[in-house]
Amino acid sequence: MKNTSSPQNDIYFSEGTVPGKRYGKIHHKFVIEQLIYKGKTDFQDILIFENAVYGKVLVLDGIVQLSESDEFIYHEMLTHPYILCHPNPKRALIIGGGDGGTLREVIKHDIEECTMVDIDGKVVEICQQYLPFISDGAFQHEKAKVLFEDGLAFMKKFQNHFDIIIIDCNDAIGPSEKLFSKAFYQDIGAALTENGICSFQMGSFMDFDFLQEMHDNLKSIFKYTTASKLTMPCYHCGEYCFMGASNGLDLKNIPAEQIKERVEKFIQKNSLKYYNADIHHAAQCLPTNMQLK
Ligand code: SAM
Repeated sequence: MKNTSSPQNDIYFSEGTVPGKRYGKIHHKFVIEQLIYKGKTDFQDILIFENAVYGKVLVLDGIVQLSESDEFIYHEMLTHPYILCHPNPKRALIIGGGDGGTLREVIKHDIEECTMVDIDGKVVEICQQYLPFISDGAFQHEKAKVLFEDGLAFMKKFQNHFDIIIIDCNDAIGPSEKLFSKAFYQDIGAALTENGICSFQMGSFMDFDFLQEMHDNLKSIFKYTTASKLTMPCYHCGEYCFMGASNGLDLKNIPAEQIKERVEKFIQKNSLKYYNADIHHAAQCLPTNMQLK
């Protein structure tokens, strides 16, 4: 393979401030082919650039949120494996998700409405302008309702209301930090319907102790929990953890035949790039060194 780059002249974005033990110790560097947007909102710094391998990359407060080339893995895996465990979901809620990728996947389902609550309207505006292919029209969809407020305060307003809740926030820093708390999980438990399911982006398997703490918090509130592993090449150190929780449905033990039937029916109408019935189960099989108690 011929290497045509001249690294001494390249301009880089260096991701070195992920929370936890990697903070300042491991840098994940991307060559910036083109700077697309750089700015500051009331809540966070936003950077969008083009990289030759990943395509367009969105960074908030110095941490990569998505790349054009692998965002489908994150967005499909945070939504479909949980929504398809529910026999009849009607009302969905997304906390965060300002780029619109999660909303794009949720509205593919036969639901009545999906509310998305992001603290930062500017992220939604900038993503629609510079990364429109992520939301792909989802913000304008008749099932979508988009609100700009703090997800923590929003959740307290509901009891027994949502069938699906998806926590698509940043890592546990800045405006997202309080979304990784037992108090918030308690409010989620109250806001879910009897068979309601919540999915969570939890962070990197490099921060195993943190994941275990969050799993312990979920277990203290929900009867059923599950954790899955996905590889996100554009994320710092690559291996990420999503969790699911429910008080009514045993997410790990929904019969395989039922999942297969629902997934196949869904895939007939919606072309997906990553999620399928096999990966539904495979993602929940954790290697020995990553098993959460
Ligand atoms: N895929 C991403 C990742 O790397 O984990 C997360 C996607 S999304 C861009 C994260 C969103 O969460 C941002 O738009 C941010 O404004 C929003 N957010 C952060 N804290 C929040 C809060 N307390 N309430 C609602 N939204 C919040």
